Amino acid sequence: MKIPLKVMFLKNFFLIELFQGMWLTLKYMYLKKKVTLAYPYEKGPLSPRFRGEHALRRYPNGEERCIACKLCEAICPAQAITIESEEREDGSRRTTRYDIDMTKCIYCGLCEEACPVDAIVEGPNFEFATETREELYYNKDKLLSNGDRWEVEIANRLEQDAQYR
Ligand code: SF4
Ligand code: SF4
Repeated sequence: MKIPLKVMFLKNFFLIELFQGMWLTLKYMYLKKKVTLAYPYEKGPLSPRFRGEHALRRYPNGEERCIACKLCEAICPAQAITIESEEREDGSRRTTRYDIDMTKCIYCGLCEEACPVDAIVEGPNFEFATETREELYYNKDKLLSNGDRWEVEIANRLEQDAQYR
């Protein structure tokens, strides 16, 4: 629709569009609910199904959950997991090596799905950026320490998600 010249002149003369723009800015500054977060001081909610940094869990008595069945290694589409194992004196089997090359991982969650004892899980941590590739080659100690660090959050997340499994 063609705007009459007179209307155009009045709009320009009274700076109507400028004031409309300023009103929009003021509205979003003071009246509307903010949709942004002051990260890293504020963090948004995470889904219980969030797939973050990997962790190896222990039982409450401190024993490792992992029984070295290697299902996670077999199912990993990126072939990022390497496991070696041996039999203990009591006849149980445990890993002697559990590595994940996080530079290969695609965070598909299949390792967690395959694990029969909820040992390998993807925790809630997404802040694990590094300066070198080498720091992203995780070994068993690193994964177990992640498990110790995030056990409360991981157990809570698994409990929330259990009804959908
Ligand atoms: S999340 Fe997927 S790609 Fe990453 S280690 Fe597990 S199975 Fe492999
Ligand atoms: S983490 Fe789970 S699936 Fe992988 S070797 Fe250990 S027990 Fe088996």
